[in-house]
Amino acid sequence: MRAVILSIGDELALGQTVDTNSAYLAAKLTELGIGALYHQTLADDRAVVSAAIVQAAQQATVVLVTGGLGPTEDDLTRQALAKAMGTELVEDPASLAQIKHFFADWGRPMPDCNKVQALHPTGSNMIENPLGTAPGIRAVLGKATVYVMPGVPREMRAMFERSILSEMRTAAGPGPVILSTKINTFGAGESTVAQLLEGLMGRHQNPLVGTTVTGGIVSVRIRSESRDPKEAKTNLDKMADKVESLLSAIVFGRDDQTLQASVVDELRRSGLTAATAESCTGGLIGKMLTDVPGASDVYAGGWVTYTNQMKQDQLGVSAQMLEKHGAVSGQTVCAMADRALAQSGANLAVSVSGVAGPDGGTPDKPVGTVWLALASQAKGSQTIETQAVRVNLPGGREIVRIRAALCALQLIRMHLLQRPITDMSWVTQTHPAA
Ligand code: AMP
Ligand code: MG
Repeated sequence: MRAVILSIGDELALGQTVDTNSAYLAAKLTELGIGALYHQTLADDRAVVSAAIVQAAQQATVVLVTGGLGPTEDDLTRQALAKAMGTELVEDPASLAQIKHFFADWGRPMPDCNKVQALHPTGSNMIENPLGTAPGIRAVLGKATVYVMPGVPREMRAMFERSILSEMRTAAGPGPVILSTKINTFGAGESTVAQLLEGLMGRHQNPLVGTTVTGGIVSVRIRSESRDPKEAKTNLDKMADKVESLLSAIVFGRDDQTLQASVVDELRRSGLTAATAESCTGGLIGKMLTDVPGASDVYAGGWVTYTNQMKQDQLGVSAQMLEKHGAVSGQTVCAMADRALAQSGANLAVSVSGVAGPDGGTPDKPVGTVWLALASQAKGSQTIETQAVRVNLPGGREIVRIRAALCALQLIRMHLLQRPITDMSWVTQTHPAA
């Protein structure tokens, strides 16, 4: 079963009102397993709308139309439908009574122009509108059923859910089962992830695999479809395992799992605590960790040392080191992490210092250059191990800072799982050199 969605209104075609009806209806159709062939936005023009309805009815079995059922002269959708059907408009007494009833309830006489809302093409029937004066219209045109609904989103939704949804569900029949999942990664760009998944992302494969990016997180979406629910699930699980093994260490969770939640989980599983020492992220790592309920079991707290002076006073970074290597260097972040570890008494500490931009970049350290370190002390041991990495992060100030914080979280996670940090493709250097 295929559908077409038509949105009618001058204000939509002119870009003054955003068409939200199509998005709503398309999402509802997807839930029913009905694909939309296309959405069209049309001006209030009888000939244009009529031609679009005729064309849609030849290509689809369901045509959903919204808008242009108002009482004013610019609302011409009912006339356009009559033209498409080759019939005349007739009055529906029940609808007229209902409209009159509405006005009586409001304590006002019905303006003459509202009479037009009781008209519908011969051979079609009315769909009751419980929230307004514009009834909808149901018509059969060739092999297609055409539903015309009011444009006001609230009225359209009520009518769709009350009178149209169940009819469409019956017409669609028991469709295939569609299962989906999302595998979340951090540490490589979308194109790198796509390269690693080469061969799995074909346009017409089942399960269908694709990538999306939100806030620096690259997610792999998998959608499995089958008439047999068991088969849909088996295929989904198999593909998810394959994707996870190809992307290995940068995968941190499925579906709604966040990186910070997965770090808190791993720390708890290991029975370890963490502290933070932040410069360019200004406390964002601490914020993300404390977004997770119950983080106090595993997160000790941290420092925000933005100036060199604060790095010296609070974290004992020496003036000579800052002079020689700069605040954004492997040496400085190692010193920051070491001191944060010792001062906090946590089992591990991460630090970050970078050039978030827009200013401050140099040829050596352009905007997006971020150094991070992780210092750790095994339980019962006196030795502190510290490792720093340099990453070159793409994006403007905001996204560089978010990615830098996520890098710090991923560093903790990979350390706990003993995975090689260099699996993050953004890592370009380590200190001490690996
Ligand atoms: P109409 O049924 O054409 O009289 O539409 C009434 C009002 O509903 C319009 O003035 C718009 O503000 C709103 N509207 C109509 N169509 C849409 C749409 N597709 N998306 C969002 N709002 C709409
Ligand atoms: Mg309109």
